[in-house]
Amino acid sequence: MDRIILLCLVSSWLSAVHAQKFLISPKWVPRGFKEREERGDGTAMDEIIKANEFHSTRIIDGSTSLREGDIAVSAGRRSKTCFARSCLWSKSVDGHVYIAYNLSPEYSEMEEKVIKKGMETIEKGTCVRFVPRTHQRDYIDIQPKSGCWSYLGARGGRQTVSLQAPDCLRTGVIAHEFMHALGFVHEQSRFDRDNYVTIMWPNIWRDRLRNFEKFKTDSMNLPYDYGSIMHFGMYAYSQDGEPTIIPKNSQNIKLGQALTLSHIDKMKINRLYKCGDKDDY
Ligand SMILES: [Zn+2]
Repeated sequence: MDRIILLCLVSSWLSAVHAQKFLISPKWVPRGFKEREERGDGTAMDEIIKANEFHSTRIIDGSTSLREGDIAVSAGRRSKTCFARSCLWSKSVDGHVYIAYNLSPEYSEMEEKVIKKGMETIEKGTCVRFVPRTHQRDYIDIQPKSGCWSYLGARGGRQTVSLQAPDCLRTGVIAHEFMHALGFVHEQSRFDRDNYVTIMWPNIWRDRLRNFEKFKTDSMNLPYDYGSIMHFGMYAYSQDGEPTIIPKNSQNIKLGQALTLSHIDKMKINRLYKCGDKDDY
C-alpha cells in the first residue's frame, strides 16, 4: 500500500514538473521537424518564421495571438475585415503619409540604425514618412518584445510593432512588419493566388495550415507579385524540407524578397494611399 502511495506521489510530482516546463516554454515545434539548413536564399518571411517559431515564446499575451505567422490579432477586435481602405493611416495635405513612431530605449544605437534603415526602405519611392512621435494620437510603438510581428493597418492610438533583438533586426524583416502596419497582408493570401502558385498542403506543418489561407484582398489592379517582400518563401513552414509553395508555369521564379521592397510593393503603397505612381518621392 505504501508503495502505491509513493508511486502516486512520484507520478503526480513528475506530471507537475512536466506541466511547469510546458508553461515556462510554450514554444511549439512540430514533431520530427528539423530546422532547415541555411541555403543563403532566405526571404524576410523565412527569418520571421525562424524568429517566431524557434527563438521566441509564441504567446504574446492573454488576449492577443498571431495569425499567418506574424500578424497580431486581439480577441474581439476587427481583424480579418481590416484590409486595404478600412484601416489607413491619415494622409497629410502635403501628400505624404506621416507615421509617428516611438522607439524603445532598450535598443542600442546600432540596433536603432538598423530599424531606421528599415524605415528608409519603405520611404524610398513611396509617399510614406516615419517621424519620431511628438504629440500624435496614432503611432507605432517599436518594442523588442518576443518575436517579429505587427498589427494590420492603423488601429487608432498606440500600436506595437515587435522587433526582437537581434533576430528581427534585419532591414527586410523590419520593412515586412511595417508593410503589415501599413495595411498589407501576405502576397500569397491574395484571393486569386491559385492562378499563380500551387500550395503543397501535405508538405506544410499540420499546425500551420491556417497560415496559408486566402483573403478577400484588393489587388489594386496590380499583377501578382512573386517577388514581394510580403510573399512567403518556397519552403515556408515546410515540415520535411519539401517546398510548400510552387510557382505555376515556371520553376525558375524566386518567391519572396530578403532585403528590400519590390517595385510592385512600392506601387502598392502608393496606390493604397492614393499617392500616384510617380517615382520621385
Ligand atoms: Zn508577415
